[in-house]
Order: sequence, then structure tokens, then C-alpha cells
Amino acid sequence: MSDAETLFERIIAGEIPSEKVYEDATTYAFRDIAPQARVHVLVVPKKRYRNVAELAAADPQVLADIALAAKKVAELEGIDGSGYRVVFNTDGDAGQTVFHVHAHVLGGEQLGHFGR
Ligand code: AMP
Repeated sequence: MSDAETLFERIIAGEIPSEKVYEDATTYAFRDIAPQARVHVLVVPKKRYRNVAELAAADPQVLADIALAAKKVAELEGIDGSGYRVVFNTDGDAGQTVFHVHAHVLGGEQLGHFGR
């Protein structure tokens, strides 16, 4: 991976504005700029990995931190009782556009099926 800063590193650094929902020692969560559901929050590790598999191989504890941060986001957004979806897009067919692993946390309404 190149050393060029990703969009999300610039957001975490505060160089690009974001609407923060939650933050802890290893993760940062903020609203997606183009929400695909009533609640759509991105949870990113502060340290960059390209995708969820690279993160899991290198630092499984931080992957667990992301899962727990997603639950915290759901609680803060009041959707932990109604249910929510956590998605990690990986590469082309999944539509990954930012190569700094991130969990999409979606909910706040009945979600459609996904896949094709
Ligand atoms: P993905 O397509 O899985 O890589 O997800 C990237 C997500 O980042 C998309 O859902 C975008 O809407 C979102 N996004 C892009 N730029 C920003 C930004 N400046 N602030 C918040 N979300 C963004």
C-alpha cells in the first residue's frame, strides 16, 4: 500500500470535517456523507489497514474493537434494540472506494435484502 494518506486518516486527524458519533483509543465513528439508511455510521480503526482480512491477520483485537464500537454506535443511535447491519466492503465487486478498512453500521429502519 502506498504511504499516501487516505481520506479517513485525514478525517481522523481533523483535517477534513466529520460528524463524530463515537471515539475510543483505537476506533473513530462518524456519519456517512451519503447515508444509505436512516442511520449510517462508519467505524474505522485509527491505524490503517486496507481491508478487514488484513486487519484480522495483523491485529484481531482491533477488529474486535470495531465490533464493539459498532454496538456502541447502535446504542447511541437508539437502534441496538431494533437491529442493525455491519458491512465491510472489500474491493471491486463490493464497491469499496476507500482503502482504509471501515465498518458500515446501518439501521434505523427495515433494511432491504442485499446481494445482487
Ligand atoms: P466504501 O464504498 O465501502 O469504501 O465506503 C466508503 C464510504 O465513505 C461511502 O459510503 C461514502 O459515502 C463515504 N464517504 C466518502 N467521503 C466521506 C466523507 N468525507 N465523510 C463521510 N463519509 C464519506
